[in-house]
Amino acid sequence: TAVAERSAVADSLVAEPPSADSRYLRLQGLSKRFGATSVFEGIEADIARGEFVTLLGPSGCGKSTLLRAIAGLTAVDAGHVEVDGETITHLPPQKRGIGMVFQHYALFPNMTVFDNVAFGLRMHKVPSAERQQRVDETLSLVELETHAHKHPHQLSGGQRQRVALARSLVLEPRILLMDEPLSALDARIRQHLREQLRNIQQQLGLTTLFVTHDQEEALMMSDRIFLMGKGNILQQGDGEALYTRPASQEVAGFMGAYN
Ligand code: ADP
Ligand code: MG
Repeated sequence: TAVAERSAVADSLVAEPPSADSRYLRLQGLSKRFGATSVFEGIEADIARGEFVTLLGPSGCGKSTLLRAIAGLTAVDAGHVEVDGETITHLPPQKRGIGMVFQHYALFPNMTVFDNVAFGLRMHKVPSAERQQRVDETLSLVELETHAHKHPHQLSGGQRQRVALARSLVLEPRILLMDEPLSALDARIRQHLREQLRNIQQQLGLTTLFVTHDQEEALMMSDRIFLMGKGNILQQGDGEALYTRPASQEVAGFMGAYN
């Protein structure tokens, strides 16, 4: 009815409090030092369920260390990581439900593509029929189904990186972290993989934190960007906000530096 429609419109105009979905991955006061040197301090950020966020910043600012801390590969000195309302800071990496893809795919050279992707499922003792099905599905998702029986040395760099991605995805992570996964690839392949990656991420609705030092890549791929300076997040926003409404001289300088 017209009344119900009007009331639905009115409801949609009321500002809603942030939902659990808008805080699917929460970083709360994360700090890390190596000896006397602080890498980052008091990092605060929320990522929504299904969101693609890029952590953008110059080399050495602490991006990789922050990703490793979220994955549990390095211990933090203070703060907490929360996923879907659950604190995971005390959990070992394999219990966090977080997948990670690195710049240099660490594939097993003596295993086929299929076995590389199946490896994690074997570790988790997934029965062979289910394993077969999940690996097949994941390989077709990354468009490698016709390469299942090849070995890594028979693949291009882009194909190898897709195997590395498949190896993470097959474990059905809640969060995907990617540390400069495209930086080692040549420009044409990189462009294609950006699109393919974004496509897969949207298809799965996968909450993703993607690291790059490449501003163009960040602007092209992300729902939001976290611009990182030395050891802290300078500004969070979409690409346009960072460009047109920089919160500080430092942000303006960084965003302008590539023009
Ligand atoms: P980014 O990925 O943004 O290039 P990193 O997280 O790799 O930055 O490094 C941030 C800083 O932490 C750098 O100064 C680096 O030298 C230092 N660092 C990284 N890992 C270690 C480590 N294992 N021991 C000591 N210092 C480290
Ligand atoms: Mg790095």
